[in-house]
Amino acid sequence: MTATLRFGCTGCGKCCSGHHVPLTLAEAGRWAHDGGQVVVLIEAFVTDGPGMPVEQREHVLRRSYPVACGNGQARVSVTFAAFNPGRCRNLDDNDRCSIYEQRPLVCRIYPVEINPHLPLRPEAKDCPPEAWQQGPALLHGTQLVDAGLEALVQASRQADREDIAAKVAVCQALGMTTSALKGNGFTAYLPDMGAFAGALAQVPDDDGTQWTLHVEDETLAAGLQGHGLHTTNEPPVYYAFIGF
Ligand code: SF4
Ligand code: SF4
Repeated sequence: MTATLRFGCTGCGKCCSGHHVPLTLAEAGRWAHDGGQVVVLIEAFVTDGPGMPVEQREHVLRRSYPVACGNGQARVSVTFAAFNPGRCRNLDDNDRCSIYEQRPLVCRIYPVEINPHLPLRPEAKDCPPEAWQQGPALLHGTQLVDAGLEALVQASRQADREDIAAKVAVCQALGMTTSALKGNGFTAYLPDMGAFAGALAQVPDDDGTQWTLHVEDETLAAGLQGHGLHTTNEPPVYYAFIGF
C-alpha cells in the first residue's frame, strides 16, 4: 500500500528564521531592490569526475555551468539566497510574512523538496509534529498530490536551469570566482548590494574568467590538480569556506 503524508502549515514561522532562502534571478533582483542582502553560495564539480554525484548526473548538469579552471574545466552551481541569519526581514511582529502575496517560490514550496533526488523527511524540517497530522494529503508515495504545488516545484527547477548562465556571469563580474568542491563544502560571499543590483540589471557576457577551487584536503586537492584544475587552500579573505 502506498503511504500518504498529510501536511497543514501551522503558521509557526520557524522556516522564516535562520534559513537562507534560495531566490530565482528575478527574485534576487527584487530582494536587492527592496534593500535586502543576498548571500551567494557556490559549489563545483567535474563532469563524470570529482564532486559529481553519479546518481544525480542529469539534475546537477542541468543546473550548473562550465567555467575555465586552470587547464581544465569545472561546472559551477550558484545559489543566490536571501541572507537570513536570524529572522527574515519580511517576518512581522506576529510571525507573519509581510510580503505573502509576493513571497519567493521557495517559501511557497517549503517543506517540499525541490531536488528530485531528496525524499521529504518530516523530521528534517522545521515544521512542528502537529503540522504532519493535519491538513490535506501532501504526498502519495513520492508524488505530490496538489497540481499547483507540483507546478511551483517545476517552475523552481526551470528557473535553476535558465538562470545559471546569468548567475555565473554576475559572479564573474563581481570577482566571486572561487568555488568549493561539491560534497566538500560551499564558498559563501556577501556582495555589496549596490554592485550586485547593477550587475543583475545588466548581466554581462561570459568573459571566460578563470575560476579557482578552494579545497583544504591535500589528497583531494592533488586529485583535482591531476585534472588540470587550479586549487587553493589559502585562508579566504573575500569569502567564507563552509566545509562539510
Ligand atoms: S519572505 Fe516571507 S515566507 Fe519567505 S522567509 Fe521571509 S517571511 Fe518567510
Ligand atoms: S515551519 Fe512549517 S509549519 Fe511552520 S510556518 Fe514554516 S511551513 Fe508552516
